[in-house]
Amino acid sequence: MMRLPWFRWHAPRSVAEAARIVAAEGPQAMLIAGGTDLVPNMKRRHQTPQTLVSLRRVPELKRLANGAGLTLGAGLTLTEIVESGLVREQYRGLWQAAAQVATGHLRNMGTIGGNVCLDTRCTYYNQSYEWRKAIDFCLKKDGETCWVATASKRCVAVSSTDTAPALIALGARAKLASTAGERELALADLYRNDGIDYLARRADEILTEIVLPEAAGWRSTYWKLRRRGSFDFPVLGVAAAAKLAPDGTVEEARIVLGAVASRPVVVEKAAALLRGKPLTDDAIAAAADAVAARAKPMDNTDLDLYWRKEVTDDFVGYALRELRGDDLTATRLRFARQAL
Ligand SMILES: Cc1cc2nc3c(=O)[nH]c(=O)nc-3n(C[C@H](O)[C@H](O)[C@H](O)COP(=O)(O)OP(=O)(O)OC[C@H]3O[C@@H](n4cnc5c(N)ncnc54)[C@H](O)[C@@H]3O)c2cc1C
Ligand code: SF4
Repeated sequence: MMRLPWFRWHAPRSVAEAARIVAAEGPQAMLIAGGTDLVPNMKRRHQTPQTLVSLRRVPELKRLANGAGLTLGAGLTLTEIVESGLVREQYRGLWQAAAQVATGHLRNMGTIGGNVCLDTRCTYYNQSYEWRKAIDFCLKKDGETCWVATASKRCVAVSSTDTAPALIALGARAKLASTAGERELALADLYRNDGIDYLARRADEILTEIVLPEAAGWRSTYWKLRRRGSFDFPVLGVAAAAKLAPDGTVEEARIVLGAVASRPVVVEKAAALLRGKPLTDDAIAAAADAVAARAKPMDNTDLDLYWRKEVTDDFVGYALRELRGDDLTATRLRFARQAL
C-alpha cells in the first residue's frame, strides 16, 4: 500500500490568509484544492511538500458570476461547472471538457483551478516510487535522464488537463494573487512548454479566478481521445471555438490542442485559414491539415504514437463540423459514454 508522507496542514479562510501562509512557508509548501491529483502524486513521491495549504474553505474561490462574460472561482468543483446551465448553454466546449474529466466521484472533489494547474504526465513518471527507482528515476523527479528523449535536456511530459485547451479556445484569462498583489494574464500565457516548469506561476501565487469573455455569437466544442470512453486522461484533446456571422462566415476562430506537448498548443495558422470563410468541407479540411502539422506527440502516453498523430485531423474535422451545426452524436458515442 502506498502511504502519504508526513506533512503539516493549513486551512485558511481567505485568499489573503492563504497567500500569507504560502509566502511565509516558502517553496516547501504546496496548495491543495480537491487533492485528486496531488494526493496520489504525493503517495508516489512525485511531490513531497512539508506543508499543504488547503483552499477548500476559502469561499471567495467559489464565485460563479455572470456579468460581461463569466467569472469562475478556481475552487469551483468540476461537478459545479458541469451543473451550471449557463456553462452548458453558452460555453459548451468548457462544459464538454469538464464533463469528461475523470469520473463523477473525482469531479465532485476536483476543482477547475486544480485542473488548470494539473501536473504534466508521462509513462515513466506516473509510476510508484519503486518503479521509478528501478529505472534510476528521470529528469522530472530524482533522476538525470529523460527516458523519452535521452538526448533531451528538457522534460517532455504531457499537459493532460482537459479544461485548459477548452478555456483557452474560449479566450479565458487567469487571475493570480499573492502577498505582492494581483495580476491577470491570458490563460494561454500561464503555460510553458516544459514538462517540469510547466506553469508561469510563482510558487507563492494562487490562481483565484478564470475569466471568460462574453459568449454571444460564439460556438465552442471539445473532442477528447482516450482509451476508455468512461474515464481516462486525454491522449489528444481538440478544443475549437468560432464566432460565426449570420450567413455562417467565420469572423473569429481559435483551435487549441491538448495532450500533444507540455502545454496546450494554440494553432493560430488554422484559425487564420478559417477567418472570412464559411465552414465548408474544404475549409475544414485545410484547417485540419494545418492543425495536424502542429501535433507532435511523444511516445510517453497511452495508445500508439503514430495513430494518435494520424487521427488529429479527424478530430479537428469532428470539432469544426460540430461548430458548423452537423449532428455528430453517433461519432461522439464512439469516444465517450455520453452524447455530450
Ligand atoms: C483516476 C483519475 C483520473 C483522472 N482523469 C482526468 C482526466 O481525464 N482529465 C483531467 O484533466 N484530469 C484527470 N484527473 C486529474 C484530476 O482529478 C483533475 O485534473 C482535477 O481537476 C484536479 O483538481 P484538484 O482540485 O483535485 O487538484 P489538486 O490535486 O488539489 O491540485 C493539482 C495541482 O494544482 C495545484 N493547485 C490547485 N489549486 C490551485 C490554485 N487555486 N492555485 C494554484 N495552484 C493550484 C496544486 O498545488 C497541484 O499542483 C484524474 C485523476 C485521477 C485520480
Ligand atoms: S518526459 Fe522524460 S523527464 Fe519528463 S517525465 Fe517523462 S521520462 Fe521523465
